[in-house]
Amino acid sequence: MLQVQENVDIKDYCTIHIGGQFRYFAIIKTKEEITEAIEFARKNNTRLFMLGGGSNIVFTDKVLDVLALKIEIEGFEIIENTDDYAVIKVGAGENWDIFVSRTVVSNLSGLEALSAIPGTVGATPVQNVGAYGQEVKDTIVSIEVFDIQNKVIKTLTNTECKFAYRDSIFKHEDKNKYIILTVTFKLSKKNPEIPHYIDVKKYFIQNNINTPTLLEIRNAIIHIRGYKLPDPKVIFNVGSFFKNPIVSSDVAKKLKNNNPELTIYPIDEDHTKVPAGWLIEKAGLKGKNFGPLSLYNKNALVLVNNGNATYEDIISVRDQIIKTVFDKFGITLEQEPEIIK
Ligand code: NAP
Repeated sequence: MLQVQENVDIKDYCTIHIGGQFRYFAIIKTKEEITEAIEFARKNNTRLFMLGGGSNIVFTDKVLDVLALKIEIEGFEIIENTDDYAVIKVGAGENWDIFVSRTVVSNLSGLEALSAIPGTVGATPVQNVGAYGQEVKDTIVSIEVFDIQNKVIKTLTNTECKFAYRDSIFKHEDKNKYIILTVTFKLSKKNPEIPHYIDVKKYFIQNNINTPTLLEIRNAIIHIRGYKLPDPKVIFNVGSFFKNPIVSSDVAKKLKNNNPELTIYPIDEDHTKVPAGWLIEKAGLKGKNFGPLSLYNKNALVLVNNGNATYEDIISVRDQIIKTVFDKFGITLEQEPEIIK
């Protein structure tokens, strides 16, 4: 049965530890509890808010008049297992990295480069989480959702989710329309490939590994991320605070001509990706202390709450960083985490 708590501290549910309170809060373990939550929200004239791992979100310091639902729906079911692949249906509330480690030890490839990413399984399709050349969209078959308005369970195909770079319908036209219940993945039994990313290649050269196993790839990613991303339990942060901007190829070429050490990544003839971390570092901001917040000294993309930062502090520091980078390069950075106010 649904247990609703009142005035729950938001700080405890987001890894950057900033935020006021949720007016109402409940943990969802079953599909039935969703129906109860919808009824509770209707009776109390509030709206539902779906909470994942809180690792890519920044909240206001005010009381949010919502019923926040922490989705803890469990499940791991192999629904097809052939010589070439396996299809697995996973509960939205399962911890993402524990799931990835289960696939790796089962010799199933497709998610190994997405190791050590915080959060839950159900949160990954929302922004089509990706890293080191893999994106969840490449292995997702379908997503089972609860349609809040019509109170029915539906299955969305991969195509219906309109996945794009760090993007899906769950961020736009269908935002707050669905609660993700399960995600079904199709994973391969073929030998894995080394991600074509410089950090990963360097790792295998240094460790004298030519044809790594899935577990070795996972360990490489865990090692690299462990260096570049601080543990949010110790250093409060939401991972990369800025997206890697995609600019016109002309702008990128000019930047490269002036800075030969810069690596740029063409997307198509007209568009090129530029590393946001390089722009911030080159603008002299890596490791900079802004008082209550600072930019991490090992990775300029990570904004760290030094302890008592407020929502206003984070917005002000974000804007200072965006302005400094724009003044230097004429490129506007965009924040990566979602802002809830
Ligand atoms: P990085 O490896 O320093 O790379 C910086 C930028 O260069 C990224 O935009 C990355 O593209 C691009 N890049 C590097 N090598 C590339 C290649 N061989 N081909 C195409 N593009 C290449 O990035 P980082 O900040 O340390 O992050 C490591 C990985 O984690 C990256 O893939 C990053 O996108 C990912 N990440 C994802 C999220 C998320 O899903 N929300 C959050 C944080 C970091 P890509 O972004 O396309 O990889």
